[in-house]
Order: sequence, then C-alpha cells, then structure tokens
Amino acid sequence: MSAVSPNEKFETSWDLAPAPESTDHVNLESHYDLFIDGEFRPSKSGNRFASVNPATEETIAEVTEADQADVNVAIKAARKAHDNVWSKMPGAERGKYIYRIARLMQEQARELAVIESMDGGKPIRESRDIDIPLAAAHFFYYAGWADKLNYAFPNRRPTSLGVAGQVIPWNFPLLMAAWKIAPALATGNTVVIKPAETTSLTALKLAEIFQQAELPPGVVNIVTGHGEVGAAIVNHSDVNKVAFTGSTDVGKIIQKSLAGSEKSLTLELGGKAANIVFEDATIDQAVEGIVNGIYFNQGHVCCAGSRLLVQESIHDELVRKLKHRMDSLIVGDPLDKNTDIGAINSSEQLNTIESYIQIGKDEGAQFYQPSCPVPEKGFWCRPSLFTDVAQSNRIGQEEIFGPVLAVQTFRTVAEAIQKANNTPYGLSAGVWTDKGSKIFNLTSQMRAGIVWANTYNKFDPTSPFGGYKESGFGREGGLHGLSAYLKV
Ligand code: NAP
Ligand code: MG
Repeated sequence: MSAVSPNEKFETSWDLAPAPESTDHVNLESHYDLFIDGEFRPSKSGNRFASVNPATEETIAEVTEADQADVNVAIKAARKAHDNVWSKMPGAERGKYIYRIARLMQEQARELAVIESMDGGKPIRESRDIDIPLAAAHFFYYAGWADKLNYAFPNRRPTSLGVAGQVIPWNFPLLMAAWKIAPALATGNTVVIKPAETTSLTALKLAEIFQQAELPPGVVNIVTGHGEVGAAIVNHSDVNKVAFTGSTDVGKIIQKSLAGSEKSLTLELGGKAANIVFEDATIDQAVEGIVNGIYFNQGHVCCAGSRLLVQESIHDELVRKLKHRMDSLIVGDPLDKNTDIGAINSSEQLNTIESYIQIGKDEGAQFYQPSCPVPEKGFWCRPSLFTDVAQSNRIGQEEIFGPVLAVQTFRTVAEAIQKANNTPYGLSAGVWTDKGSKIFNLTSQMRAGIVWANTYNKFDPTSPFGGYKESGFGREGGLHGLSAYLKV
C-alpha cells in the first residue's frame, strides 16, 4: 500500500533556512582573453561578450569573442605542440602532466563548483558533488592510460591523430571539457576547444590550471565565442579529429561539412530517454530516480529521463507519488545547498521550454506544476509534468532540454520496448523492475547507448558513453574513448 493518501494536503516546500555557499574563495577576473600557446592573449578584433549569471541576470565577467584569425593562431600553436613536443613525449611523462591537472582540479574543486553554478545556473549540490569530482576523475582515469596504450591495443602500435578540434555545450561545462581534453591528451593529441558561449568561465579557470601544471604551451588552446568559432575550428584544414557535443541540428551541419574529408568525427547529440517502470519495481525508489533523471539539473541533461513509460496497473499510484515529491522540490538560488532545481541556463532556453509547455497543453496532454515560489529575477522553470501523452505528441518525441516530463503507459514488455525505441533519438534509457531477467531482455532490445537499471544518471570515467541513431556516434569514456583519438 502507498503511504500517501491522494486526499492529503502537503506543504509546497520544506521549511529550510537558506544555506548559501560562500563566494569568498572565488577568484574571477573582470574579463578573460583567449588561451593560446600557453598564455592568455587578446583577440585580434578586441571583441568581447558578457557571461551572465542566469540566476541574477548580472554579468559575471566578459569573455573574448574569437574569430577565424584567432582560431588559425590557436590551431597553429596546437600543431606545433603536437609535432614537436606532445606526440613525441613518452606516455609516462604525458601521464604525469595529466595527473597534475587532476590533482589541481581537486584542490580547486570548491572554487570551480561555485563558478560552475554561478555561470550556468546548476545547483551547487550538483556541481560540487557530481560535475567537478567527475571532471577530475576523467583526468585521473585517462592519465593512467597514457603509458599503457600499447597494452590497450596490443600489436596495433597506436599513434595520435594530431590536432583535435572540440566543441562543447553549456549543460556540463567543465565535465564536457574534461571528457574531451583528457583522452585527447593521454593519446598524444593536442587540442583547440570552444566552450559554449554562456558557460566559458570554468574552461578558462581550467586554462589557469594548465598553466599551474606547466603543461607545455599549445597542448591545449581555449578559444571562446559563438557558434561561428566552433564552425571555424571544425572546418579548419589542419584539424585531424573533431569531437562535438551539442544539438542534433548542429551535429548534422558538422557531419555534412566534414563529409569527404579525412577528419575523424565523434558526435554526442540530443536525446529523449525513456524511463520504464514495471509494476514489480520499488515505486518509491523509482520516483526518486525519475526526479533525479529529469528535474535535478533543470533537465539540462542530454540523457535526461524526459519520458516516463509506466505500466498501466501502477500508473495512478506512481503519478500521485511523483506529484507529491515534485511538491517538495526547491527551485531557486543555485548556490543554496538546499536547492534542487537551479536557474535555466539562458532566457533563450527558458523560451524554448515555455513554448514546449504550451505545445503540450495544446496537444491535449494533462499538465501539472507545483506552485512553489521562484525568485523574481533570473530564468526559472518549475518542475513540470504531462500525463496522457500520446505517442505522436511533440512533447513525447522532441528534446525539450528542461524540467518537463512526458508520461505514457504500457501493458506488455513488447509495448514498452516499442514505445521506448519510437523516437529519432537513442542515447539512454532507464529500467525499473525487480526482475533481473526483464532488465537483460530490455537492455538487449533497446536502441540506446546507455541503459541504467534501477538507477539513473550515474556516470563513471571507465564506462563508455554515446548514442544510437540521431543521438550521434562514437563513444567517450573508458577504453572506447581512447580509440576515438588514435590511429590503430
Ligand atoms: P548547440 O547549439 O548544438 O551548441 C553546442 C556547441 O556548438 C556550442 O559551443 C555552440 O556554440 C556550438 N555551435 C553552434 N553552432 C555551431 C556550428 N555551426 N558549428 C560548430 N559549432 C557550433 O547545443 P546547445 O544548445 O549548446 O546544447 C544543448 C544540446 O546539446 C542538446 O540538444 C543536448 O542534448 C546536447 N547535448 C548532448 C550531450 C551528449 O553527450 N550527447 C551532452 C550535452 C548536451 P554557442 O554556445 O555559441 O551556441
Ligand atoms: Mg553564463
């Protein structure tokens, strides 16, 4: 029996005193130059743009807008560092630098976490406990491979590809930088990377760490700016490898522009993951997993569990418990340790989410949102739920990238699999059941790169991550992540 009666009234939020993380230990410059050839340099044009705190709408720092000329200089520096220094260095020596970077990230973890939350809007609990530790863990993990590539690929004599051009999104700024940079460095490649325009600051702090680690100049270059800067990197003729994480639309543009070139390409794109809950699952545990999968981090997660497929017999009970849990979620100051849902990353993204909520209502799905308070300034979206979603509804097919969950029901295992697979995406999925056999049956039939069983959104550097279909191709993490950066 459920512990929660449908008629009970609940407080809309827990009565917790504010517990803001201090910003005293944060060192931010008023503006940041480009990081090229081991030093911070102004751009040729001198243009800059503001990096805004989405929770306050205040400018945190100004960031440099690079252009083609700056990208050319960065790629030249990366080429020189690759050919003369980094690819020639013994793996054990490269590994020492990468370990040093990982340790410095750990030492500066608090500062990095606070900047990540200020610049991107995610709750400090997420940046402190997940993003920053995982980013350091990626450097630790790949440092360990640097001198073992011949064991990873026996008799294949692996060699580096050359200069890697990398472009990353705003949802996990430092973690995505780590996913891209750590394996590239371990395998002897050099890097030119562009962070997302709204979240460049932790990548620039990482540049300071590269300086502290005395990483040889040109091994990693960080050029900030808008989409055109990303295009200038990936289309540059002296780039050997392109690694992109972002939207499926931009991924398709990149794939087209690289067709026929010799560049290697990996794409990590969007998703519309199904969290599948069977009647034999532990419902309370599943509710926690669903909340973690779509609401924490504002749903700004490519592998977010944005669809819920629930077995018909438990639909009403599960939805009731889920609404009850949603009522307790705290939306607000990302720096407050009690916050569950921080700020939406930008006003543009908030507009996108709000337009999808309107689309869902127009499509006739049932809408639910708790009435919790949100701050006056900043970009906010309360946790949102659509039930009675039809398979053809856009809110059940398209990536919203916000805290919006679409619920559907199923009766049989076959129907669950059919519905789960019925989107253009195939990045991730979740299965909640008491039966191991069901888990194995489902995971083998699901067209998703990652399937979590009785948990959700768990990451580890040893585990490969990547999609099927329009979610992209190639894997990051683990041994698979190494091969994307090697000629074998
Ligand atoms: P986006 O618009 O595709 O942007 C991603 C990055 O590409 C940004 O740095 C962006 O610069 C840059 N960019 C834009 N146009 C470009 C072009 N023509 N050529 C090269 N680079 C270009 O995506 P987003 O809105 O930032 O991020 C959200 C999307 O990323 C979602 O669809 C999400 O699913 C996906 N994502 C996927 C994964 C995964 O691992 N599969 C992980 C995280 C996010 P600007 O910042 O200046 O626009
Ligand atoms: Mg910002």
